[in-house]
Amino acid sequence: MPAKSRSSSHTPTPRRARDPASALKKYQRMRDFSVTAEPSGHERVGVKGHSFVVQKHAASHLHYDFRLEMDGVLRSWALAKGPSVDPAVKRLAMQTEDHPLAYGGFEGIIPKGQYGGGTVMLWDRGTWEPIGDEHETYRSGRMKFRLNGDKMHGQWALVRMKPKPNERNPAWLLIKDKDEYAAPGDADALLKDDKSVKTGRDMEDIAASTKDVWISNRAKKADEMPERPVPKAKGAPRLKGVPKLKGGLKASALRAQSEKAAQKKSPRPKHRPSSSSRS
Ligand code: MN
Repeated sequence: MPAKSRSSSHTPTPRRARDPASALKKYQRMRDFSVTAEPSGHERVGVKGHSFVVQKHAASHLHYDFRLEMDGVLRSWALAKGPSVDPAVKRLAMQTEDHPLAYGGFEGIIPKGQYGGGTVMLWDRGTWEPIGDEHETYRSGRMKFRLNGDKMHGQWALVRMKPKPNERNPAWLLIKDKDEYAAPGDADALLKDDKSVKTGRDMEDIAASTKDVWISNRAKKADEMPERPVPKAKGAPRLKGVPKLKGGLKASALRAQSEKAAQKKSPRPKHRPSSSSRS
């Protein structure tokens, strides 16, 4: 993907892509923000940032989504077993689609039936520093970087494996380099700290709360998600709009619950406010 996206008509050199604003333009060009719910990322234009996040994600399979900010998006890898701090224990990291920056702040519930449905914990966050040129090392599949997170620290490597004939997503390995943060013989040392860096909650706490719900098919940014429980009266329009789902017991249960809460204190609104208007 990087090689392709970089070779569009008038992009002269790979160095150009270093400018986050131009990287963001590509991201934006590929999307119609009057249709997609994804954040446009306008709030970050001109900001040169290297954030990283790890989101623990209890979807159909539990995994950890490791995301590095590059060119205005979050490059993403899914680790079934999470990061290992034992340099001898390399962890498979399947590359997944780039995510919008705003998604990196999200913790909560993706409704069942939607893509990635399940519980998401903001397991770690911080900044990363590339060692060497981030674009060259990304393209060559041999990245080295330092992480300054709450949980993940020190030097790491992401190494892309040889492509297999029918692979859908590139497979990489996330490897802890030997430094003072390595823990030989204790690969899962970091995983023991199983609380959110954002809220201190565990997965059960997050799953039990319906206040933060990611609606991927509606225009809503992660940082517009309510941080506190939505007051029942005012929250009615938002809650009512929440579950537009294929069906299933849990989806309808969530809908029933939301509408019940909505009806308690406020009359049902004729229209919910258009959330596709961007301000
Ligand atoms: Mn995931």
